[in-house]
Amino acid sequence: MDYELAIIGAGPAGYSAAIYAVRSGIKTILFDKGLGGGLASIAPNIENYAGFEEITGLDLMEKMKKHVQNYTNINFNEEVENISKDDDEFLIKTSKDKYKVKAVLIATGTEHRRLDSPGERELFGKGVSYCATCDGFFFKGKKVVIVGGGNSALIESIYLKQIGCSEVHIIHRRDQFRAEESYVNESKEKGVKFILNSIVEKINGKNSVESLDLTNIKTGEKTKLDIDGVFISIGEIPQNDLAKKLNVELDERGYIKIDRQGRTNIKGLYAAGDITGGLRQVITAAAEGAVAALTTTEVLGKKYPY
Ligand code: NAP
Repeated sequence: MDYELAIIGAGPAGYSAAIYAVRSGIKTILFDKGLGGGLASIAPNIENYAGFEEITGLDLMEKMKKHVQNYTNINFNEEVENISKDDDEFLIKTSKDKYKVKAVLIATGTEHRRLDSPGERELFGKGVSYCATCDGFFFKGKKVVIVGGGNSALIESIYLKQIGCSEVHIIHRRDQFRAEESYVNESKEKGVKFILNSIVEKINGKNSVESLDLTNIKTGEKTKLDIDGVFISIGEIPQNDLAKKLNVELDERGYIKIDRQGRTNIKGLYAAGDITGGLRQVITAAAEGAVAALTTTEVLGKKYPY
């Protein structure tokens, strides 16, 4: 066996896990189906990762990548297609090869659900955002829209009002919210305007978002709304296919259940980062990766000072 630990997913959790694992003497292999960085690498600006007052997601991920490469290679463009367990070993089949390891750490993250409206992709980072916590501050004093009707959308609307957006609208495709009533009430009380039974047909703008074409799906009425920013908050999709195949316990939203050390319900299988739900920030992902990586020592016959 050439490797003891396989880490799947080279985002903040996977990178941090690799650094901690290799430095602890664990023979580690890190896979990513693409070029790494995960969702964080598309964050236009990160201002809440301690030690970096302002950095683009891509720059921060490049720094993490280089840091890992000081210790080990990263198997980019190598997708893990299947993991199976055979006694105390995991058999990993990738798009390129097969591996046997004693511990696996899943750090496959999530994907933002897309609206798939024209303009969404083109204006990403130019007024289209999927993260109010990350980007809300840039819209202080500006008019913004949040698309969605779940707890996240309603909480983000309150947050955007709180940080001083001049107008905050929620656009929801139904007239009933999925969000808890208390959030809906608080949002209303804070002055958020609700545009219900409506969908975003198109996001308009040349170099930045300028307006939205909306359709009321009950009346068929079409309107244009002048706006500076659009926060799309219509849920996330945990990348849990591999976990499902292994019968890893998931929560009701599809995130992998872990304990505080990153253990799943399967011995030798660990998870870290956004795939485990929770706060879903770069800093928490990196921290979870470190903890889970060191916990794998328990199945590798190794120790770490703790
Ligand atoms: P969510 O609860 O799944 O809500 C997604 C919302 O987006 C729904 O209102 C849905 O509309 C809408 N939507 C989905 N696809 C759409 C599309 N293609 N076009 C337009 N609208 C679309 O997602 P979430 O708000 O991100 O929350 C995820 C989970 O985290 C939930 O379980 C939530 O309760 C939980 N959460 C809890 C808290 C808290 O309690 N503090 C905070 C945040 C999140 P429909 O309603 O019509 O389906």
